[in-house]
Amino acid sequence: MDYRRFFSEAIDQLHAERRYRVFADLERIAGAFPRAIWRSGDTAREITVWCSNDYLGMGQHPDVIAAMREAAGRMGSGAGGTRNISGTNHPLVELEAELADLHGKEAGLVFTSGFISNEASISTIARLLPNCLVLSDELNHASMIEGVRRSGAEKKIFRHNDLAHLESLLAAAGRERAKLIVFESVYSMDGDIAPIAEIADLADKYNAMTYIDEVHAVGMYGARGGGITERDGLAHRIDVIEGTLAKAFGVIGGYITGSAAIIDAVRSYAPGFIFTTALPPAIASAATTSIRHLKTSSAEREAQRRQAQRTKEVLGAAGLPVVPSATHIVPLLVGDPELCKMATDRLLEKHGIYIQPINYPTVPRGTERLRITPTPFHGDALIEGLRDSLVETWEALGIGFGSRERTPAAASERVIPLAVPKSGG
Ligand SMILES: *Cc1c(COP(=O)(O)O)cnc(C)c1O
Repeated sequence: MDYRRFFSEAIDQLHAERRYRVFADLERIAGAFPRAIWRSGDTAREITVWCSNDYLGMGQHPDVIAAMREAAGRMGSGAGGTRNISGTNHPLVELEAELADLHGKEAGLVFTSGFISNEASISTIARLLPNCLVLSDELNHASMIEGVRRSGAEKKIFRHNDLAHLESLLAAAGRERAKLIVFESVYSMDGDIAPIAEIADLADKYNAMTYIDEVHAVGMYGARGGGITERDGLAHRIDVIEGTLAKAFGVIGGYITGSAAIIDAVRSYAPGFIFTTALPPAIASAATTSIRHLKTSSAEREAQRRQAQRTKEVLGAAGLPVVPSATHIVPLLVGDPELCKMATDRLLEKHGIYIQPINYPTVPRGTERLRITPTPFHGDALIEGLRDSLVETWEALGIGFGSRERTPAAASERVIPLAVPKSGG
């Protein structure tokens, strides 16, 4: 075996399929969000980031930074070990109580990332339940797919947000068999929302457990930032609500909330929780500060909603192919991986605008896109600059426009034209 050759051929394959990933060298500037320094070769330039998942700019909030500094100064940098070995740092105790309260649940459990929280929790819950059948939305995130796979449980994939399909799978399994429905609230590539109440109705009817990923909703929806389940008064109808501390809350880490018994079971049985060092106290303290801030302040949520709506309208009015979305996410259809990459290169090099191209396998082939995430800090002038840069890029590269007469996407629209089936969901 020629190992070196084996790995270079694996990389060559990605190049041949035009899905080799390149990461931009960026340095975010606290106090000037969404500005960042981009380094390429010998040059360093200031650019504007339009695709950050720091959706509300909380990653640079003065109170969050101060909490991180203060805790690090008082308690040091690391956690010192797994919770089993080193105990739980007090800031983590406070954080878990804050999260349980956020979702109106008995208990919360924090993991080192949202990815790990899904993988460890789904795999543990589905493995503990005897002969469990997992019902998984076809567009679920990779971390949920990994969790299902590792559980070793039988799984059935239901078509995206398709209640009739889900019901037929539940009915075929029967009321007696253990069943776990795993799905997301906001799907981050199309920006559409699951029919949560109807899924909870089906779970009741067929006696299934429910697990929702609210990663792209926590902090941003609901009067206190408890996500779509809070906004729609549905948190009590879902068994496990999962979220991240890394996107709207602007820090790092993931979590689940639920009944005391479920949380204690995952705490006690999940290797991905037990055998890894806990989050540092400074991280926990910063996350708690961010959550507390967003529980009482709606200014960030309202400004984000306004700027996202404005972005949809301004780009739509210019004839750019904005995909209708019911959320803060603004997908712009390109439909070709090469053009998608060329467009983002041109935006960065010529216009100082950073938007990561979204290609297969993150989205189905033929639906390659730019995924734009306006924040409260993307003011009207930045939106107009974005429109002009996009129009120039679209014309220069000959990418298809939508109809210029077309009315901008309504905020309430629930049309999902991009949701074509994807393999292996
Ligand atoms: C980003 C993401 C995760 C993982 O969260 P991290 O905290 O970044 O690890 C989980 N689920 C969904 C839907 C995501 O987009």
